[in-house]
Amino acid sequence: MSDRPTMTTTAGAPIPDNQNTMTAGPRGGVMLQDYQLIEKLAHQNRERIPERVVHAKGWGAYGTLKITGDISKYTKAKCLQPGAETPMLARFSTVAGEMGAADHERDVRGFALKFYTPDGNWDLVGNNTPVFFIRDPLKFPDFIHTQKRHPRTNLRSATAMWDFWSLSPESLHQVTILMSDRGLPVDPMHMNGYGSHTYSFWNDAGERYWVKFHFKTEQGHKHFTNEEGEALIGKTREGYQEALFGGIERGEFPRWKVQVQIMTEEQADNTSYNPFDLTKVWPHAEFPPIDIGVMELNRNADNYFAEIEQAAFSPSNIVPGISHSPDKMLQARVFSYADAHRYRLGTHYENIPVNQPRCPVHHYHRDGQMNTYGGLRTGNPNAYYEPNSVNGPFEDASAKEPPLKISGDMARYNHREGNDDYSQPRALFNLFDEGQKGRLFSNIAAAMGGVPGEIVERQLAHFKLVHPDYEAGVRAALERLHGYKADTISAQPTAAE
Ligand code: NDP
Repeated sequence: MSDRPTMTTTAGAPIPDNQNTMTAGPRGGVMLQDYQLIEKLAHQNRERIPERVVHAKGWGAYGTLKITGDISKYTKAKCLQPGAETPMLARFSTVAGEMGAADHERDVRGFALKFYTPDGNWDLVGNNTPVFFIRDPLKFPDFIHTQKRHPRTNLRSATAMWDFWSLSPESLHQVTILMSDRGLPVDPMHMNGYGSHTYSFWNDAGERYWVKFHFKTEQGHKHFTNEEGEALIGKTREGYQEALFGGIERGEFPRWKVQVQIMTEEQADNTSYNPFDLTKVWPHAEFPPIDIGVMELNRNADNYFAEIEQAAFSPSNIVPGISHSPDKMLQARVFSYADAHRYRLGTHYENIPVNQPRCPVHHYHRDGQMNTYGGLRTGNPNAYYEPNSVNGPFEDASAKEPPLKISGDMARYNHREGNDDYSQPRALFNLFDEGQKGRLFSNIAAAMGGVPGEIVERQLAHFKLVHPDYEAGVRAALERLHGYKADTISAQPTAAE
């Protein structure tokens, strides 16, 4: 007798023959009653779920967050106390490309982390950049549309990208990072991660502090030039998966030094920039990064689809001691990420094993798609409403965070008025050596191919406000690469025009 497991239908009945369809005679006529064939085809038809609208192509692994520093005076979060070790999952991604996109494309990288803490899942859904292109969530769908395909040509449109960016000067900081060396990391291990948003900590005394999270690669920064990336894509479109999965299989476990920057509520009232503006960093000199521990990735998923594709990260997942801030981009993401998962994975997406908290879960939500709870999530069949007198799960006031002090008159405030969009990109530009500047100019010029002169000139005017050398460098590169002249206002339109 064989010790191989018996193949079964999804209902558990043994499959007698997985080679031959049931037909009326050897020459054909498939029988509708061949449920085993029908089940197989029907399952195949349903193997795809909607891909993420953004961050569709991703690579991930499990690991551990170890806390070595002491920030207990700022936060009561159990996973951030000295000595804490928390199991976690990371998913890295590109933003614009679809599921089949090549890994080595110039793009921002997602850096999404899920920490399975004793108080529930804490998700930090960041990027490999400390800032973002926009600061007002009302512009997010517009921005993403410029990164995706033109509705008529079904091609990506450089014109749309630069039209939007040149009309949105708050994008300059992130555009400069994207077009710099760090815009094309060789793999997920050789790049930093940033929480990007301002979050908050709160402690046992009920005091709140603002915080930014940094994950500094211990592998060092490594990047490809556009030419190196293009050459590699000609050989493999899966370079990140090969590097991350392969490295972990070989026992090479990547690590990141974890740091926080802390700002008091009083300090936040006195910064020259809005500390809740996602297009800004907090200068290190004013808010020095504090080392708090190390994150290591050390285990691959066994089933990519189940564990990485279905991993659902959301900034709404916070735990006592960690909270949100008035950053309006963050506040919009608190809604939209969980909403995306309900659409993509189903109402009970947190019941999928990779998303399940590693602590007891008790709530009164009922029914809906994929409800696989044994019994009620309350642990008591009579506890299906609240308040109740049957000892059903009850709130815990110790998880109540201190008040978030916000005051102001409700209005649609102009998010561009009074904002300095040039100083921080200038600080970054001044960090670059001549080689880095040269590559920045060439990368921008390459990305502007076919963009009408009017838009190019509008963008060059912004670069000039950052630094005259920035504008001059890009202009010279445009001339070199495309024969661009300032007076050729109507350069060749792209296919997207
Ligand atoms: P600092 O000189 O103290 O910090 C500069 C930081 O810039 C470095 O710590 C490093 O961040 C990052 N950096 C260095 N070289 C490059 C590069 N070639 N490409 C991208 N980033 C680089 O100055 P500030 O804190 O005042 O920041 C100056 C500028 O540096 C900012 O305007 C911003 O553009 C950029 N930056 C600042 C960060 C911050 O949190 N303050 C974080 C990242 C970038 P890291 O240590 O994270 O690698």
